[in-house]
Amino acid sequence: MSFLRLIGDALLDRACFLCGEDSDTPICGGCRGDFRSFNGSINLADGGIASADGHAAFWYEGRLRQAVLQMKVRGEYRLADVLAGVLAQRSQEFTFETGTVFLPIPRFRDNATSVRHHFPHVASRFLAEMHRGESPEGLLTKVRRTRLQTEVTDAQRRTNLLGAFTLSTDGRERLAHRNVVLVDDVLTTGATLSAAANAVFNASPHRCSFLTLARSRATIQAGS
Ligand SMILES: [Zn+2]
Repeated sequence: MSFLRLIGDALLDRACFLCGEDSDTPICGGCRGDFRSFNGSINLADGGIASADGHAAFWYEGRLRQAVLQMKVRGEYRLADVLAGVLAQRSQEFTFETGTVFLPIPRFRDNATSVRHHFPHVASRFLAEMHRGESPEGLLTKVRRTRLQTEVTDAQRRTNLLGAFTLSTDGRERLAHRNVVLVDDVLTTGATLSAAANAVFNASPHRCSFLTLARSRATIQAGS
């Protein structure tokens, strides 16, 4: 590594990822203060698919939206850790029974390496630790690539995600009679969470709810 690269990295480490101001943490206090809490619970009732209740920690806007886009589009893995920590901290305001199973919404073809810095997986681990639960990996898998909800017609929207998620045989056994919380980054239409919940219900859990970092105001324009 060159000297200049070393200096560059050192400088990067001391700047906020979002505003560029000096900061010892990847998101400075000022930017964190801009995150606006989302209050109240959300019910997903997507006719024909599963209905589930859950929470979102913040509104998907301003600095938080910038952070999520930077994390997803530019692959800035340190943001996944920081945002997972922010979600875990906020989750103290919600009640989860001991032994709750936190289940990340997987991507198509996730593997042991790709999930290391994938927000839903990191957040599930943090949440399990904080609420004395579990965050098993590989129980819920995404079996095919799906088109963004923004790219399909109204008629296709309902079927786009049907059958996109499946439980492993192990998953069916381990989720039976358990409290399951699906974990994701942004909730927009809720179609992804509904499809995942639909797969989880095959295991006859005691309850299946969800927790996301953010809730988007847009209903269909911004994704899943
Ligand atoms: Zn900042």
